[in-house]
Order: sequence, then structure tokens, then C-alpha cells
Amino acid sequence: MAGGPAAGRPAPGRPGPALPTPRGPEDAGGAPVATGRMAEPLARSVGAPTAEALGGHLGLETVGDLLRHYPRDYRRRGQLTDLSGLEVGEHVTVLARVASVRHRPMKQRHGFVVDVVVTDGATKVPLTFFPRHKGALAHLQREMVVGRPGLFSGKVGAYRGVLQLVHPEHHMSGSRDGDPGADGTDDLAAEGAAMDDFLTGVLPIYPATQGMQSWTVAKAVHLVLDTLREEDVPEPLPDMVLARHGFPGLLDALRAAHRPGHPGQEEQALERLRYEEAFVLQAELARRRLRTGTQTAVPRRPVDGGLLAAFDQQLPFALTDGQREVGQEIAADLARTAPMHRLLQGEVGSGKTVVALRAMLAVVDAGGQAALLAPTEVLAVQHHRSLTAMLGDLAGAGTLGGADVATRVALLTGSQGARARREALLQAASGEAGIVVGTHALLQDAVQLADLGLVVVDEQHRFGVEQRDALRAKASAVPHLLVMTATPIPRTVAMTSFGDLETSVLRGLPAGRSPIASHAVNAGNAAWVARMWQRVREEVEAGRQAYVVCPTIGDEAPGDGGGDRGADGPDDRVLVSTVAVEALLAEEPSLAGVRRAVLHGRMPPEAKDAVMRAFAAGEVDVLVATTVVEVGVDVPNATCMVVMDADRFGISQLHQLRGRVGRGRHPGTCFLLTPLPGDAPAVTRLMSVAATTDGFALAELDLETRGEGDVLGARQSGARSSLRLLRVVRDGHVIADAREDAAEVLAVDPELRRHPALAGAVTELLRPQHGQFLERG
Ligand code: ADP
Ligand code: MG
Repeated sequence: MAGGPAAGRPAPGRPGPALPTPRGPEDAGGAPVATGRMAEPLARSVGAPTAEALGGHLGLETVGDLLRHYPRDYRRRGQLTDLSGLEVGEHVTVLARVASVRHRPMKQRHGFVVDVVVTDGATKVPLTFFPRHKGALAHLQREMVVGRPGLFSGKVGAYRGVLQLVHPEHHMSGSRDGDPGADGTDDLAAEGAAMDDFLTGVLPIYPATQGMQSWTVAKAVHLVLDTLREEDVPEPLPDMVLARHGFPGLLDALRAAHRPGHPGQEEQALERLRYEEAFVLQAELARRRLRTGTQTAVPRRPVDGGLLAAFDQQLPFALTDGQREVGQEIAADLARTAPMHRLLQGEVGSGKTVVALRAMLAVVDAGGQAALLAPTEVLAVQHHRSLTAMLGDLAGAGTLGGADVATRVALLTGSQGARARREALLQAASGEAGIVVGTHALLQDAVQLADLGLVVVDEQHRFGVEQRDALRAKASAVPHLLVMTATPIPRTVAMTSFGDLETSVLRGLPAGRSPIASHAVNAGNAAWVARMWQRVREEVEAGRQAYVVCPTIGDEAPGDGGGDRGADGPDDRVLVSTVAVEALLAEEPSLAGVRRAVLHGRMPPEAKDAVMRAFAAGEVDVLVATTVVEVGVDVPNATCMVVMDADRFGISQLHQLRGRVGRGRHPGTCFLLTPLPGDAPAVTRLMSVAATTDGFALAELDLETRGEGDVLGARQSGARSSLRLLRVVRDGHVIADAREDAAEVLAVDPELRRHPALAGAVTELLRPQHGQFLERG
């Protein structure tokens, strides 16, 4: 394998499930904020220029940050990087031998060109250097001795089909200074930190970037390690855990991870450090579970002849088995004096809304109120509309047509008019509205609820935990909490991301649900594309509707629009936008006369609402939209979806998107359009999506193909992330072990008073710089 991509590719901004975030000052639990050597700024240990470079390029600020910047690979003595494994576009650091050196003067300008070929013994890779003057040329020639090993770092490019390293940096075996001046770290280079692990031991290869080479990181790490004492590194793992697993202490582990004395020594160290990441996180989750367990909520027990009974009576369909089972679990939770803390997972269309509504009605029957929080305004408005419709007379309390037992459903969004808002606020505060639906407008201070008994959060993966806590803070007692998500969450992710929640899975779809057929379509194949639009036309002529989903809006700065996910690497492709598709469809012969509208997140709320209403009312045939339609939009008459540049979306997201069609009596069709050739990995992904509608299988696949960065959050793969070694797909057993151990430790010491270093590590995990990825919004 190659030295590998350094510092990771930019993590696509797929919002994933939220991890815990601090709940407030009381949350620190008296834990010390990291102090001492680990919290010390790097400048004192490695000098200001290097510290600045480490901070600027890798986000490493403190001694602790640097020590937790683990090598991504290790090279044994004499073990060269397999150069046949390089991939174009990667930034790599490779260990190779010089095979040949040739220099020639530049034709156009002063200076020289030095062509060096390096090899791993089999594959050869050319590098080109441009020394600026004779002195630099002479220096380079002294260094580039045929047969000598060195580290070479740069971006892999291809020139006439031959792989090469573009603008390589280098560090030769036995040299005391790498490439002076190249990375602004001359002072450190001059220290000549021992790099002759080249020949004597194991060479760590660090995640690096263009401006910060692996060997510069290695030197800095050495400087720090050499001056580190036992008392500088507080041990977060309890003795019991260390003994149980036979782990080395933290200082030994850090030394072995960065500077293994002999091949293989790093493995045990990394195992310990990986476990530690899982353990610290699980300790926090265990603490939260324990706290929830000690909180008291008002039990909301079912009553006879109430709203819920009346609602069940008038329900136009039978509940599925899954809905009934989960309904019972929730009812049992609500009747307890400890607050419910439940995650409800259910496929798109599995009928979660009905389950939630029944829970809300039970609470209203018991004299309380329920709040339903939606991630977007479109969704809040739609929830309000559909809850009101489902309830019918039961939502007409105080009106002429209202039923005997009835309540009201109030809507609170950020952009509603002053009058509507005042009215809704009043209904919420007086308790007249048993159900309050809203976006984060619900979290504002002005909103008061008479007796909040239940909070339902729809599509939690778009909602920060902090926000849900802010809402819970509006209740006098701790309200029950039900979190719903249609993105199936693999078990290991649930254990990390939702580790403080109980989980229910809503299995099965309501009977009579129509299947969705999905097809990957090559955008370059004009005949297929024409046929696809023809299919859209046929649906419209049959009286049905279609979505065309685009990755971007078309008027934005690059990266906006939310579609830049799941890409196979950076490229400069111009993505299809709503603007472009609008223009395209206007010219598409088979779509002549079809009524179109555009919907995207940056339209004014009234405009969005008007478009959604028109589409729901069947006044629009084709809705050209961004991923604003991804979540929860429910127009049963929509049967067809075209996803433009589908390779730009993640697996779970595509699954979520296509869940918008086939919600009614008619079968759904989904076209996944891509300009990429059939053998591109992204297209393989599209084929998988097309091949199955099992959301859990797709979620697992998503996790495997895209890695944690996307699953756990955007910032996961950077140096600032606190989960550096832990991989939820691969390390399920580590997470499970850590969860058990943590529960055991916390059961005895729930606030970690006897484990200050662990408490400190938890605080560190929740530190905003690290915790950003824990927070979704
Ligand atoms: P989701 O789980 O995606 O939120 P919804 O709650 O929006 O699913 O339900 C999707 C559609 O299925 C809605 O139109 C809803 O009225 C309908 N539905 C829910 N439960 C049933 C059922 N048991 N039988 C038939 N239709 C149902
Ligand atoms: Mg829903």
C-alpha cells in the first residue's frame, strides 16, 4: 500500500446522527479542564514556527493534540512503500530508493530541472525537482544518491499515463536537514532530530499535508516525547480496565505508538489508544444514562374514553404489528416516573408519524402537552397540516365542529406572521394546544408551554442534542423524549451516537405500500436519458407527479447546496443545479406543457410553503428541488423521482430521497443519473442502492464505503476529531467492551469523582473544538 492520503480527504458534509454534547456548566461534573503539560501550547516544546505550522496545517495546538496525532502507517526497516498502489489525486508519503538522477538546465528560464526516479524495487515513479540556484542543485545532487532510501511526499499526478509525484518534498535517510525552508521549520530541522529509524527501526508515517510533511511532524513528536514525564500524562483508564485488558499505561502507549522500538510494538499501543477513545465516549454516555435514570418525569398513564381512543376509532387503516408493538413500548415508558429516552427507527414510510401522534395523544389525555420538533420549516408546516388532517374533528377544540374530546395543534415557525405567532404562543402557554409543532423557533425563550410532557424529535440526525435539551428545559419536570429517525442506524453507530437512548425499531411497512424500482442511468447516454424523461411524462399523463432532485441550487458559492457528498475525490465537475435543470426541462420535448416549480432551501419561507402546497394539491406536476425534499415530505401522488448527479449523494441519503415516491397506491420509480462511467466506484454504489430497498443493509454499506467521517459527522476525519483510531464498522467489539466496562465503572462512581483523569478526558472530548462533530444543527 501507498503511504496513503494524508490528513484525509475533506469530509463531505453529510449530517449524521448526533453524538452527545455538553449540557451546561453542571455537566463538567467538577471535572478538571485539561491542564499541565498536555494542555500546553506547542510553541514551548517545538518552537514558534513549527508550532504555527502544525496549527495551521493540521490544527494541532497543544502537546496533547500532537501526541494524539498518531501515525497512519509504519514502515519497517528496508520495507519500501508499494508504489503500484498509488492513486492519482492522493497526497502520499512514500518510502522509496533513488533509482536514477539526471539534471538538465531549463530551456526558458534560469535554473535547473532534476529528474529523479525512485523505486520500490519493482515499480518506478519519476519525480521532478526545480532547484532555484546552483547551490540548491549541488545540495540536491549530494542527497539524491542512487540506492539511497528516502521519504518522498507529494500529490500523485499522472503525466502521459505515468504516475508521478508533483512538487515532491523529500527527506533522505541519514540527512540532518530535510528540505530547509520548504515548510518554514528550519529551526527544528537544525535540531537534527534522529530520523535514522530509516535504517534502525520502524519509521512512523504521519497524516500530512502539502505544507506539513510527515518527517516534520515526527521531529516535533520526538522533541515532545523526549521531555515527557509520567506525571505529565494523566491516565484516563481505570486500573481495573488496564488490568482486565492487559493494556500498557498511557505514556508507554504514546511512546510505542510514535516510536515503536521494534516492529509490532505499536500494535498493542494502538489497541489501547483505540479502546481508550471508545471508553471515554462510553463513560460519558453511561453517565448520561445514569442521570436520566435518576431524573423524575410525570407519568402519563392512558385514560379511557380519551383522545387516543377516539383517534384509534376513526383511523382509516389498521395499525401494523410494528406500530402496535412500538406503541406499547412507548405507552409503558410514558407511564413510568423516569423520563422516556427512546430512539424510534423506522424505514421511510413505515408510519412513524402515526406512532408519534398516538404517543402525543396519550400525553394530552393525561393532561399534558406534547411538542413535535421538525428539522425544517417545510417539514414543520407539513407535520402541522397532516396532524391536523389526521385528527380531523379531534383537533377542533373550542370550534363549532370540534369533537367532545378535542385538542388543538399549534404551529410555531421562525417566519410566521406576528399574529399567527401570537396566537400560537398563547395556545401553547395556556395549554389550549395539546400539541405544538415547530422548528427551532420552539426553542426561543418567548415560547412557554403550560405542561410539557413529551418531546418528539423528528429526524434527529438533523437536530442538535443541545437543541433538544433546550426544549426539555422548558418543562417544569423532565419531559419524556421520543427521537425518530428514518435513517437506519447500524448497531455500532447507535451505541456510539445514540448511546444514551433506548432503541425501538419499527419493522415492516403498512400493507398496500407500493414497491419502488430504481435504476442507475448514465447521463452520457442520450437515448436512455430521453427515455427517462419520457417515463416522467407518462407518470404525469397518468395524473401523477415527479421530483427532480439536484445537488445544488445554481446561484451559490461552491460547496453550497448540500450535494457534495459521497464523491470519490475532489474534482472540478460543475454539478447540476436547480437552475440548470429548470432550463433543461423547459427545452425537453417530452415534457412540453408539464407544470413545473422549483423548491430549495434559500427561497423565502412563504415561497417554499406556497410551492409545497401547490405540489401537494397536485397543481404542480414536476418539482425541481434540492435535498430539502429529502426528509419526510409526504405527497402520496408523487410516483417518480430523478436524482441528478446521484453519485454526489451518499447511499443512505439516496435511500431517504427515493422514499418520497411510492408512498401511495401506485408503484414508484427512481432514476439515479450519473455522468460517471459504469466502473467508477460511485456507480457501483448507485447499483447497490438500485438493487435493494432494505434501509438497514444500505446503512451498513454506507458505513463501510464512506467511513465514519460521514456517518459520525463532518469533522470526524480531521486532526481535531477526538475519535481518531476508532472505526465504528470495524471496532464494534471494542465499542461493546468499552460500553460494558464504562457502565461498570460509572455504576460505582457516577460522577467520576474517583477518576479525575477520566473526567478530564470526558471534558476534553466534549470541548467545543473537539466536540463540533458531536453537534449537528
Ligand atoms: P414515516 O415513517 O416515513 O414518517 P409516515 O408516518 O409519514 O411514515 O407514513 C407514511 C404514510 O403511510 C402516511 O400517509 C400514513 O398516513 C400512512 N400510514 C401510516 N400507518 C399506516 C398503516 N398502518 N396502514 C396504512 N397506511 C399507513
Ligand atoms: Mg415521517
